[in-house]
This record gives sequence, C-alpha cells and structure tokens, in this order.
Amino acid sequence: MFQHQYQTGSADMATIAFIGLGNMGSGMAANLVKAGHDVAAFDLNPQAVALAVEAGARAAQDTEGAVAEAEVVVTMLPAGKHVRAVYENAVFPSARPGTLFIDCSTIDVDSARHVGNAALGAGFRFVDAPVSGGVAAAQGGTLTFMVGGAAADFADAERVLDAMGKAVIHAGDLGAGQAAKICNNMLLAITMIGTCEAFALAEKLGLDQQKFFDISSKASGQSWSMTSYCPVPGPVETSPANADYQPGFGAALMLKDLKLAMDAAQSAGATTPLGGQAEALYAMFANLGGSEMDFSAIYKLLDGSWQGSSRGPVVAH
Ligand code: NAD
Repeated sequence: MFQHQYQTGSADMATIAFIGLGNMGSGMAANLVKAGHDVAAFDLNPQAVALAVEAGARAAQDTEGAVAEAEVVVTMLPAGKHVRAVYENAVFPSARPGTLFIDCSTIDVDSARHVGNAALGAGFRFVDAPVSGGVAAAQGGTLTFMVGGAAADFADAERVLDAMGKAVIHAGDLGAGQAAKICNNMLLAITMIGTCEAFALAEKLGLDQQKFFDISSKASGQSWSMTSYCPVPGPVETSPANADYQPGFGAALMLKDLKLAMDAAQSAGATTPLGGQAEALYAMFANLGGSEMDFSAIYKLLDGSWQGSSRGPVVAH
C-alpha cells in the first residue's frame, strides 16, 4: 500500500508533477497518463509542455505550480546542477509535507545524496531512480529503473515507476541507484571498446568478422556488447552498426556517464584505470565529431576508418 492514501481515491492512481519533458521525460510522462495518473507537467521549453498536454497531461505554469498539489514529483533533468536547483529553489518551498520525490535523471552520486538527505530532513520522501534504456524505451514504457532509498519509499515509488518500465530494482540506500547506473555504464564502455578492438584486430589478421562473432559469442569473449549490440555491421541485425550507427545510446551520453564514474571513483578513492582510458577515448571521439553517433561507432575510431562527422562536436549534457 502507498504510505499516503492518494487524493484521487484509487489506491493506484496519484496526482503526479512531472518536471523535465525532454527526449526521455516526454515519453515517460505520457506513460504515466496512460496508466491513469493525473499528471501536471512542466518544462522550461513551452513546446515540450504543449506536447505533454497533447498526451493528456495538465500544463503547469512553473515547477512550484506543478508540485503544489502533487503526491508524487518525478524529475527527468539533464545533470546534477539542474536537479539541485529545481529541488532547492522550487520543489522544497512548494511541495506538501510527505510528498514522494523520484529523481530519474542521471546525476553524480554526491548530488543525489545531497538532495535526497535535504529532502528527508525537510519532511519529504526521496528516491534516486536513474534509468537504463533510451528514448525508444522511454516511449515504450520498457525502461529499467535502479532505485536508491528507504524500503518504504522504494515500495511506493515502484508503483509509479511500473507504468514507465519493465523492471524496477531496489539497489540500496540513497545514491545507490546512481552508483549502479554509472558502474554499469563504465563496464559497458569498457566491454564495448574491448569488443571493438578485438573485431578490428580480427580483420587485420584476415579473420572473417562473422566467423569471429560465431566463435567469440559462444566462447569466453562473449558479452552484451558483442551479442546484443555488436559494433560491426552484420552479425546482430538490431545493432546500430547496421543503421549507420544512429543512436541507440549516443556517444555524448556515454561520455557524460564516464565523467560521472571517474568523478565518483576519485571521491571514493577507487582505482579505475580502464574507466579512465574509456573516458579518454570517448572524449577523443567526441572531439573528432562522434558525439551524435551511437557509442558503438567508436569501432570506426579503433579500426582507423573514422572520417569525422559533418554534424560536428556536440557538448555532452
Ligand atoms: P533532454 O535535454 O532532452 O531533456 C531535459 C529537459 O529538462 C529539457 O526539456 C529541458 O528544457 C528541461 N529542463 C532543464 N532545466 C529545467 C528546469 N530548471 N525546469 C524545468 N525543466 C528543465 O535530456 P534527456 O535525453 O531527456 O535526458 C534526461 C536525463 O536522462 C539525463 O540525465 C540523461 O543523462 C538521462 N538519460 C538519457 C538517456 C537518453 O537516451 N536520452 C538514456 C538514459 C538516461
């Protein structure tokens, strides 16, 4: 059961404020509406609010107005500084005591803990709930949520997140969701770069790439980067490699997550030499114009065929 009985009268439906209706948030908010929740939507971009209204949400004039009557607040913002500012300047002063805050943005662990503890200290409830899955999963309601927070808050958050995802996993206390997300994505970057290097070497050695896939995908070199997201065209039909490396999961977002992982490693005193190398390689790829490509396109840098992109470098957010 929800810790707080929702005003709407139904045990499962809630009045939800959704702040941040960008590439990810727009689809997520639409799925909350589809599930029957009463959603008040706000974004600095009025066009994003208009799209949310088309999907069945109510337009709010500002964050304060969206959260004033909310039982649950969901945020999907670019980075830690936006999350700190939105909660500290607008959400805390306007929300009702006991409101459950769910931050789905990918941000640094320190900001997640800072905002979460401030929320708890002010009589609210808070979970960090970053997602795995891209824009298609946000639209399709098939995201995976990694959630950090108290067990009772997780239980209530899960009932809201279920409408937007296929899996909702309790990772631990405050900040554990963000920690799980950046550790997973650091590992993903490393296995992707390793897989790319192996395919590039195989080709230079005259080994057919499909043959190498057939062998390594059933041998000890196997990983998700190989069998679900193979970075060379051919072996895995659904890989971005078969669609000219259109994302997918963009290289700019991978670089953002690697920076978060390296900052966290430094502040925790962890040794992550391969994570550092992965960050350097993705930074180089971004500088050479690869930001808007899928992150598996780093294969083209490693096999020497990268010619740059006409779209030019894009700053990671
Ligand atoms: P986005 O830039 O498309 O959307 C962010 C939205 O937040 C924008 O519409 C912006 O106007 C709004 N915003 C910024 N400051 C605001 C404020 N003060 N008040 C109200 N609205 C404000 O970004 P996105 O791709 O939707 O990503 C959102 C988060 O999800 C990021 O943390 C990102 O790392 C994470 N993420 C993205 C993907 C992806 O594939 N795009 C995948 C997993 C996780």
